[in-house]
Amino acid sequence: MNDKTTNERQSFSGRTDFTSAIPCARPELPLNTKHGPPLSISSFPQAIVHVDADAFFTSVEQSLKPHLRGLPVVTGQERGIIACASYEAKALGIKRGIPLWEARKTCPALVVLPSDYETYSLFSKRMFNIMRRYTPAVEEYSIDEAFLDITGMRRMFRSSYSDIVRKLLADVNAELGITVSAGLSISKSLAKLGSKFRKPAGFTPLPGRDIHLFLANTPLEKVWGFGPNSVSLLEKHGLKTALDFVRMPEERADRLLHKPGREIWHELRGNSIWKVCAEEKTSYTTITRSRTFTPASTDRHLVYAELVKNAEQAFAKARRYKLRAKTISIALRKNDFHTIGLEAKLSRATSAIIEAMPSIKSLFDRLYSEQTPYRTTFVTISGLMDDTSRQMELFDQNVKIENIRQLTATIDMINDRFGKRSICLASSLQLPENTRAGYPARIKEEKIRKLRFSIPTLNIKV
Ligand SMILES: [Mg+2]
Repeated sequence: MNDKTTNERQSFSGRTDFTSAIPCARPELPLNTKHGPPLSISSFPQAIVHVDADAFFTSVEQSLKPHLRGLPVVTGQERGIIACASYEAKALGIKRGIPLWEARKTCPALVVLPSDYETYSLFSKRMFNIMRRYTPAVEEYSIDEAFLDITGMRRMFRSSYSDIVRKLLADVNAELGITVSAGLSISKSLAKLGSKFRKPAGFTPLPGRDIHLFLANTPLEKVWGFGPNSVSLLEKHGLKTALDFVRMPEERADRLLHKPGREIWHELRGNSIWKVCAEEKTSYTTITRSRTFTPASTDRHLVYAELVKNAEQAFAKARRYKLRAKTISIALRKNDFHTIGLEAKLSRATSAIIEAMPSIKSLFDRLYSEQTPYRTTFVTISGLMDDTSRQMELFDQNVKIENIRQLTATIDMINDRFGKRSICLASSLQLPENTRAGYPARIKEEKIRKLRFSIPTLNIKV
């Protein structure tokens, strides 16, 4: 976090110049004239922060490999599509979502890395832990974004809300070597607009009395929750900016965009509707895992191994949230992006993949056709229910079920202690040589180590 730059970008009076993202002498803001009176006169009745890491995946890579700093770096080698582009790459017009071959044509010196999601989620956890030093109310919104409620923390830290946020951003930068941007305001919507306003390493405080000035310069499509359809509908009614939207009567916003529109209308006026939710998400209706491999493969064993790996991860997640599944569906995507799928009901709801394996195998056998190149496999488990309060069904083989439960719990314990997939199903271990091409060096080494020492396989009968 570069404090100096941030301060330079503040206006003379301490207010932020919302008319331009470029540091410049502040033009006189037409206060209370063109934009009407303030929407809220209280600066911070509550203080909501939105923190968003800048080009997160590539920033993590550059933090770990300092020789990559200042270079155009992208991740996504394993899929052939850019997952994240560093600011140096963005400056050359390279964006997320474009195919690698196209990006390489634009920039031959591009550094292309495979995604290392394990490391990114470790950085993510550390970033959220730094935030929790400032408030317990941290909502992990995505791997690199969070909302914080720091209301009432001024006294504890003996500093202003803005200074608390600046300190937090400096901590993240010093400890993780990545930059993040933040917005501080009185509702989640406004804080989110703030964090996007200046990137990278930007901080935009947006006190209540300044909301109208900010919204006057915010086009409708920038508002969190407005999709292309909402924007074109509002434009048809002659609206251009977020300020135009909040200046319309509440009933009209409600008539045009119903409940979501009414909520956004309140949020943008600084009436916080969406609370910062610090509880971890625990309820899922479905869990899906997918894996894309490059190049597409006609190897039956490889496609099946990838599918089983998805299923292992989906069931592991179900167990983490103490859920069991009644239904399983699998899908295979062909090289021409055509996707085919099948679903099966399990004989009883379970959280153990061992019990689901016969269904997975038979679904796969029905779906798979030889000589067809497949590029992605999907597994979805659904019909999820609470796994803690189980009732033994009358005809269930209770001993067998208990054995499976104990075996699964032991495997989870070993994997927690010694690393993911220390023990996994043999059918998902047999990934042929060519799939290792796009793995990060660390993971590649682990896999080779496993092969070299020829990991023992157990034949477990339950
Ligand atoms: Mg981000």
